[in-house]
Amino acid sequence: MSVGLPDDREPEAATGSDPVAAFWARLSPGHRRTLIDQIDLLPTSAFIKDRNSVFIHVNKEFVDRLGVGRSPVGGTDEDVVDDELAAVYLAADLEVMEREKPLVDFVDIQQRSDGTTTAFTTSKLPIRDDNGDVIGLLAMTTEVPDPERIADELRTSEQRYALAARASRDGIWDFDLAKRSLTLSPRCSQLFGLPAIAGSYPWDVLRRRMGDDEAAKVLDALKPLHDGTADSVEHVIHFRRVDGTSSWLGLVATGLRVEGSVIRLVGSLADVTEERQRAAHLERQASQDDLTGLANRRRLMEHLEACAADDTLCSLLALDLDHFKVINDSLGHQAGDRMLLTVAARLERLIDDSEMLARLGGDEFAILVQGGDHARAEWLAEAAVAALDRPVRIDGLDVYSTASVGVAHRRGTESATELLRSADIALYDAKAEGKACVRVYTPQMGEHADHELELQIRLRRAVANHEFRLHYQPIHHSNGHGVAGVEALLRWYPEGGDPEPPATFLAYLERTGLIIDVGHWVIDEACRQLGEWVAQHPEMRGTHLALNISRVQFRRRELVQDLLMAIQRNGLDPSQIIVEITETAVSEDASLLLDALDELRAAGVRIAVDDFGVGQSSLSVLYDLPVDLVKIDKSFTERLGGDGDLLVDAILRIAETLELECIAEGVETVEQDAWLRANGCRYVQGWLLAKAMPPEQVPSLFQVARPQAA
Ligand SMILES: [Mg+2]
Repeated sequence: MSVGLPDDREPEAATGSDPVAAFWARLSPGHRRTLIDQIDLLPTSAFIKDRNSVFIHVNKEFVDRLGVGRSPVGGTDEDVVDDELAAVYLAADLEVMEREKPLVDFVDIQQRSDGTTTAFTTSKLPIRDDNGDVIGLLAMTTEVPDPERIADELRTSEQRYALAARASRDGIWDFDLAKRSLTLSPRCSQLFGLPAIAGSYPWDVLRRRMGDDEAAKVLDALKPLHDGTADSVEHVIHFRRVDGTSSWLGLVATGLRVEGSVIRLVGSLADVTEERQRAAHLERQASQDDLTGLANRRRLMEHLEACAADDTLCSLLALDLDHFKVINDSLGHQAGDRMLLTVAARLERLIDDSEMLARLGGDEFAILVQGGDHARAEWLAEAAVAALDRPVRIDGLDVYSTASVGVAHRRGTESATELLRSADIALYDAKAEGKACVRVYTPQMGEHADHELELQIRLRRAVANHEFRLHYQPIHHSNGHGVAGVEALLRWYPEGGDPEPPATFLAYLERTGLIIDVGHWVIDEACRQLGEWVAQHPEMRGTHLALNISRVQFRRRELVQDLLMAIQRNGLDPSQIIVEITETAVSEDASLLLDALDELRAAGVRIAVDDFGVGQSSLSVLYDLPVDLVKIDKSFTERLGGDGDLLVDAILRIAETLELECIAEGVETVEQDAWLRANGCRYVQGWLLAKAMPPEQVPSLFQVARPQAA
């Protein structure tokens, strides 16, 4: 059976609109008959297409294989296979027509009508009319029987599919190895900036266009095809256009074999400049900090890992601004970003080309010093601290933020992560000093660091995640127990965990300097809360707010201003605020502290000495500092009714002499309360009267009786 040329149809009956008839009209009757007989007698599927890839004739095997039950004659591959495959076939057809040469063993994988997949090889030969012009092609398809070969062919065919698909949009080329000449498609010529010609270009022309170096690289890349060590290769040519701009051309190549040896290389060529630029941009983004353009954590880690892999000596500096969060919170993120840019610029000026500055995130920076020059690394650390100890001018304000630096030297076999951790431990040690300084990692630091480091990380996260809350403990008048005010107390509610007792974290916040950030928030939040209470509950007007301010916070020059601004912003009177400082606060940095306290008192804020009596220099504190109130420590109150009586009485007498008022802390029994009232202690605070409570419970305390002013 033949399909496409019905027995009753005369091939001569050609009309202009019928492609099938038009095709046959180009061939003599004898030529026609021979072709049809050949195809129909073939034991394998075969077909004829015209120059437009329209099916002119197909044999029975072809129809059977397709399993569509009807002849595709007059149609194209698009009518019988999916579009993707049709495009591949079309590309192959065009190749045969344009080259006017056979395409042998073109491999494709097809689904049979029963759903199984089979590999076929197809050969396509040009059909010439009696004048020798190519008018179409004859194709024969053979099933590949060997399953292993199928797998092999599958791989090859995938490569060829890719090649054929590319050929439709990109340039194709054919390199005749014997003649050392290249035939280029018009698109391919265009990509090389060469005129499209009918013949071939000698390789030397291409070599000159690419430049000797690039040309040598291309030949190197193609080598595995000659050797037979690869079936296909890909290579990107860096090509300089005539106008001097750079472009990248993606080359895919495969070898054509005749009797086992590669005689020609064929392939496609595509302009991949945009892809390449996009990839380079993404690569830069992935390893670059968005804000500062510095290397990011990823890139630093890559370099550290390279040092570890090559066993290179290096030093790592971990740097962290001391109060960045306060700046960010109080001046806004834009100001914070400008601060970071200034910091980055100042640090960049310090390093040389062989050193790497990275921003690890937030206000964390790192400097990698390659080689074993410890002195250089430590000098850099000191220089960084000095460079950042100058104010940064933002929106007309001089903003101060010092930096701490931890240095770790890679001495032996430390991994990248270990080195970063060592630098971090040294940094935390530096920050524990609470001021701008440098620490060099020692193994002894590491021994104690595990627990501390974990706590430090959790607390830093707590600051960022706003896991802190304020509770308020009432301070009562001793005469009748009306509430005079509240003391704001810090509570930590870790996300997803139980509240942590202040004992676990307060000292730690102080030691690490984190108290500066947290304390700043405490001041803001407590003043805001009191302002809100007063606005909503008139009976709370005049309520005092006691704020615990750490000695570390006084090292920050903006503390006084921050507090006074918070008072003003929330419509409070400075006399409502009591700043509680501990005795230890007094023994260090006395002059800074004195200045700050004087300034606060001048504004109307009152100062209390907290935990009075437990320090070494209790009495002198009262003489040396501008103080308004004394808070008698819980440990004395506890001992009332025993040897405490005498001590507390002494404190009360001294306070009276110095015209200071007293608040007794830790009042837990009726007897203690009665004793304190009887002996003239003005205020009492403790569980007997009220525990610390969340803010929403506070206003109810004032509804019973309005307190008198203290
Ligand atoms: Mg206190």
